[in-house]
Amino acid sequence: MPRFKQLNQILTLMHQKEHIRNLGIIAHIDHGKTTLVDTLLAGTGLLSPKMVGVARVLDYLEEEQKRKITIKTANITLFSHQHIINLVDTPGHVDFTGKVTRALRAIDGAVVVIDAVEEIMAQTEVVTRQALEERVCPVLFINKIDRLITELRLDAEQIEKKLKHIIATFNDLIELYADRNFKQKWRITPAKSNVAFGAALNGWGLTLSSAQSSALRFRDVINTYKNNRQNELRTKIPIHEAIFEMAIKHLPSPRQAQAYRIERIWDGPTDTEIGRILSKCRDDAPAVMCVTKARRDADGNTVATGRLFSGVVKKGNTLHLVGAQSETAVNHVYVQMSAFKEEVEMVPAGNIAVLSLNGLVRAGETLVDSVYKDDMVPFEEINYVSEPVVTAAIEPEMPKDLPTLLEALNTLVLEDPDLSVKVDQKTGEYLLSGMGDLHLEIALKQLSSHLNVVSSSPRVVYRETVTAKGVEAVAKSPNKQNSLAIQVESILENSTESETESVLCIDEYRNVLVDQTGKTYHLEEELDSVIAGFEFACRAGPLCGEPLRRIKANLRDLHLSENVGSRGAAEVMRAMGKAIFGSFLTAKPVLLEPVYKTVISVPAELAGECQRIVMSRRGKILAFEPRGVLAVISSYVPVAESFGLSHELRSATSGRAFWQSFLEDWERMPDKLASAVIGEIRKRKGLPSELPKPEMFMEEKR
Ligand code: GDP
Repeated sequence: MPRFKQLNQILTLMHQKEHIRNLGIIAHIDHGKTTLVDTLLAGTGLLSPKMVGVARVLDYLEEEQKRKITIKTANITLFSHQHIINLVDTPGHVDFTGKVTRALRAIDGAVVVIDAVEEIMAQTEVVTRQALEERVCPVLFINKIDRLITELRLDAEQIEKKLKHIIATFNDLIELYADRNFKQKWRITPAKSNVAFGAALNGWGLTLSSAQSSALRFRDVINTYKNNRQNELRTKIPIHEAIFEMAIKHLPSPRQAQAYRIERIWDGPTDTEIGRILSKCRDDAPAVMCVTKARRDADGNTVATGRLFSGVVKKGNTLHLVGAQSETAVNHVYVQMSAFKEEVEMVPAGNIAVLSLNGLVRAGETLVDSVYKDDMVPFEEINYVSEPVVTAAIEPEMPKDLPTLLEALNTLVLEDPDLSVKVDQKTGEYLLSGMGDLHLEIALKQLSSHLNVVSSSPRVVYRETVTAKGVEAVAKSPNKQNSLAIQVESILENSTESETESVLCIDEYRNVLVDQTGKTYHLEEELDSVIAGFEFACRAGPLCGEPLRRIKANLRDLHLSENVGSRGAAEVMRAMGKAIFGSFLTAKPVLLEPVYKTVISVPAELAGECQRIVMSRRGKILAFEPRGVLAVISSYVPVAESFGLSHELRSATSGRAFWQSFLEDWERMPDKLASAVIGEIRKRKGLPSELPKPEMFMEEKR
């Protein structure tokens, strides 16, 4: 028995694409997004009208989460005016984790909420720009009209002037950032009724057409406030009517939208069979879904929310994960109604589905029917071997909270594929790593909503490598029965390992172990300890205990005693590490630092200031492209110099710069800086200040 009477209607309409709208609500913080969502829920009977502004659904859910009932319902399916309205949560915060873009992929339209007093703020501008660039169609809701009347005490004419100004500024954004084909079509004008005015807190809203049908003039609204009868407006001109009418009339259905959005939001070729199917949004086609949110459930499986672009998903289906290159089973299919999930048989194309999936599935993943297994291009490239380059050590304030911390960390990493957690084997510290300082800061904030955590300040992760060929270093086990010789050299970037060489191992940092002994009689078990020793040595190099990167270790000679045994194996491992370090230190070792490619787009008049900021941080400008009134600056910035960059760019441009950073590469650090950094790291890790000498690791060299 469904908890919600609307479920049956929703199930019928899911197949009629023209009756579906997928939309997000975009707002600067405090402009009224939460209050608006509450009123929309109340308007469709999902929340008691008495609770609007009191329950605050989104916050209420956060509270629920603290109590471990993990329902985080920023994505909600509503039913109104014979239409399905899927509200998708669009984070207002632009960072480089892809969350905003991911959410924008799932929606075709956006209600942009603006506080009538504060007007358009930086955050609204930045996210609106991104939405327009993703071909998301906007409509406007100008909120807090009551403040113009009761706080600012403006008369009707002054109010009209202020509203016109907001609309004109918003149309400037459309003119600047929308594609040519949409600039005119998406313009906001009261005459078209694609802008609504109201006060979410008092539950009323109107567009020009809804005002006409209720025979209400703006002056009447002002008088209602003056006579302190504003509560009447809630029933006369309920806000949900205005917002839903506007969304249904002006925002596209998924089928309309996919016809022009796929070429923008999907990297694959649109003239292929998959491309054509995606543009059509049909139920009788193979399933393709883009996961926008994922979280772990109590059984260690995944609850994934996402947009189904094609086909249907049913309980029992097996879907292919394009990023992870594996399969998952659909255990259950749901529709998210308010705070509750309603189980359904299936969800068809064009809708937002909530799936309970077997195993681990990450946000950003593309799920497809297995017929597309080999041909599908994902909606988002997920870098499964991403190298998070900024790290903080964390621990719970109360030791007893360790299990809660580990649980919270697990969930965090699943929801955000660019985070990683490792335990430092030597110190036992939990290290949380992310793509940048801001990324880590947000993750830590999320953690601290579960429990009190203590964290170190963020620090950069480095790599050690060599620039020459080292000597052949020989190391022996203590009983002298096992001996080996290693020669370390550098692997040039982009070189592929020669096929004729016998590669024993390529580790996670792209170091390679090659067998050059010329012997063919090694047994696999014998080599195990050699390989384990190689991997162990590569995890923490001799310069300052940072991982080695892109070295080639040539195994030149190997003598193992007849019966190595488990103690012997540990000794072989240790000898291997010593030989690698010995040869490494003679091969002109250097320190590598991570470098971002940072692309900033900013109004042209602020471009000079942005370039100055980049260069003051050891940055290199790669390209400068004027694009209309904007300038796009591409640059390299060392991660170590990027801390606080977001803040500096934001305040220097009053929030008008929009940028994204990606880890581009590892670059050799200038020598002077490198030795200072090596000194600092050695001190932090409790290593002697003197760098080790190669002789300390070698029995003899050849
Ligand atoms: P969010 O940060 O965008 O989710 O904004 P909230 O919905 O939390 O609203 C921020 C503040 O504005 C809260 O104190 C709300 O009560 C208040 N607010 C929301 N809508 C209105 C409105 O129409 N009029 C007035 N005066 N205040 C409002």
